[in-house]
Amino acid sequence: MSRYRGSVCRLCRRENLKLYLKGDRCYSDKCAIDRRTYPPGQHGQRRGGKISDYGLQLREKQKVRRLYGLSESQFHLFFARSDKMKGITGTNLLVMLERRLDNVIYRFGFANSRPQARQLVKHGHFRINGVKVDIPSYQVRAGDVVSVDEKSKTVQSIVDSIEAVVRRGMPQWLELDKDNLKGTVKTMPVREDITMPIQENQIIEFYSK
Ligand code: SF4
Repeated sequence: MSRYRGSVCRLCRRENLKLYLKGDRCYSDKCAIDRRTYPPGQHGQRRGGKISDYGLQLREKQKVRRLYGLSESQFHLFFARSDKMKGITGTNLLVMLERRLDNVIYRFGFANSRPQARQLVKHGHFRINGVKVDIPSYQVRAGDVVSVDEKSKTVQSIVDSIEAVVRRGMPQWLELDKDNLKGTVKTMPVREDITMPIQENQIIEFYSK
């Protein structure tokens, strides 16, 4: 599976939106999108004009895919699964993305960005209901208890990250026990819990071509 290895700040500048891929730096005055408000690349400053319907749909898909750190094939798979489920496809897609274990680790504040959360999950630092899980795409369920493995409670990046969660807030569907480095998934997330500016209907249009 190919993974993007370039500058992640370019992705934010391309989407013209803070995707919060670099932790503390995203909240500092070093954030690239605050310093250079035009798209990346040689002709970034000259771009402009009307964007086509297809272009809008593509950008929306890329934005959400990059926000959650998925490859094209992973994202398409999520879309296909959400399309087969009951209910509204766009909402299903966003809820499934939100329920990913790497996202939940980030939301709890055990990591300061989704990319970091993904790496920590892969390295086996977390347990769900007492069982070690190292699959970033694992879908959490209501009632799940996510905890930092006993041996990982002194990992500096986890200890440092938990303090930063105060800055971005905890969604209402999660409950954190900060002292014991564990959190509970109180309920399944709903569309209103996802506050980033996302037009999921554009993603549906993109894939319905
Ligand atoms: Fe995006 Fe963070 Fe880089 Fe700012 S610092 S451009 S929010 S990744």
